[in-house]
Amino acid sequence: MSRMQFEIIARDKKTKARIFKFKTIKTPFFMPVATKATGKFYDSNDMKKIKVKAIIANALLLSLEPSAAVIKSLGGIHRFMNFKGIIFTDSGGFQMYSEHLFLGINENGIRFRNPFTGQRILCTPEKDMQIQLDIASDVAMCLDDMPLYPAKKERLIQSVKRTIAWAIRCKRYHDKHNNINQLLFGIVQGGTDNSLRKICAKKLSTLKFPGYAIGGLAIGEPENLMWQATKVTLKYIPEKTPKYLMGLGKPYQLLKAISLGIDIFDSRYPTKTARHNQVFTFSDGTLKLQRKIYKDDKNPIDKTCNCPVCQNYSRAYLHHLIKIKEPNVKRLLSLHNLYFYQRLMEKAQESIPESIDHIINIFLPSHIMQVMDTIIENSKDPHLVEKARLNKMTWSYKSGRKI
Ligand SMILES: [Zn+2]
Repeated sequence: MSRMQFEIIARDKKTKARIFKFKTIKTPFFMPVATKATGKFYDSNDMKKIKVKAIIANALLLSLEPSAAVIKSLGGIHRFMNFKGIIFTDSGGFQMYSEHLFLGINENGIRFRNPFTGQRILCTPEKDMQIQLDIASDVAMCLDDMPLYPAKKERLIQSVKRTIAWAIRCKRYHDKHNNINQLLFGIVQGGTDNSLRKICAKKLSTLKFPGYAIGGLAIGEPENLMWQATKVTLKYIPEKTPKYLMGLGKPYQLLKAISLGIDIFDSRYPTKTARHNQVFTFSDGTLKLQRKIYKDDKNPIDKTCNCPVCQNYSRAYLHHLIKIKEPNVKRLLSLHNLYFYQRLMEKAQESIPESIDHIINIFLPSHIMQVMDTIIENSKDPHLVEKARLNKMTWSYKSGRKI
């Protein structure tokens, strides 16, 4: 059993938000994705410059290339990629389900094809634990069985049973072999079925993990169902442990989740949107920099931002890089967005003793306008589209933001 590496140091007066001292950093924190021990278009040195404090890598993919043995022989993942902050490793099951590499799953483990050699591989809970111990991340995740959305009840029941059985095996193996003070988090599954979430959360709580993740959400389900499943899960896992909502990524969603008692996040969202030329600001909401209005805009992306991009370049210059299809613009916009997320977490921390509510309200109009955009772009129902347009105009007027 590892010694306590975290404690609650502040609580919000009005919501369930709190601040943990978590190893060397504070929650809430957001982890950029470094799946294969690197970001997409950004490296460890970039992350240092934009104050990234924690990242998440994928243990299973790293075990295939360069291999857990190589990373171990080079002194562990921190030295291998030269990142001094906190490193989480995901067990890797999630990637396997979503890719064409997936071959099958049974009580024993997950079978998949090695994308580098074509070889068939079986990953068991015990093997996965050993990989994460060899890689020597700060926090390991249990191997779980995550159904995609939508899933039938039968599939959800199977996933919860398997996730519990594997969590028991992971914990047993990890307790026995953990000689590096690594933390192991349990992952609660159950889709958007509240009764299954409750069963899974209650059972995993008896295993006394030092922290818990909520998995299988933010994968395309309606947002109200996601919040409901989150609340139910939180009710049945020990309150005084750090909680990690896997994959949740929009700024407003992060703040709302913090107000419910979530402490840790990871998502591709900020970098994926950056690669589509969208940037976040505290002053003007979300900007689509390919739009003509930025052609001669001499302002930085966000006047209040100290990131290396805002310190050096104007919106007009970045717009120009987009127009000439310069690949480096993807890197620049990714860095700004990741820095924005670090600031968002800092602002949440600063607000917590009083209340996080007022920052949530700042991001609400942008979020609603974005949801309306999705309806306008995707819905085939003309009445719904018209309603969404009107709703968007109302929120734009209320918040004083451009459509
Ligand atoms: Zn910036």
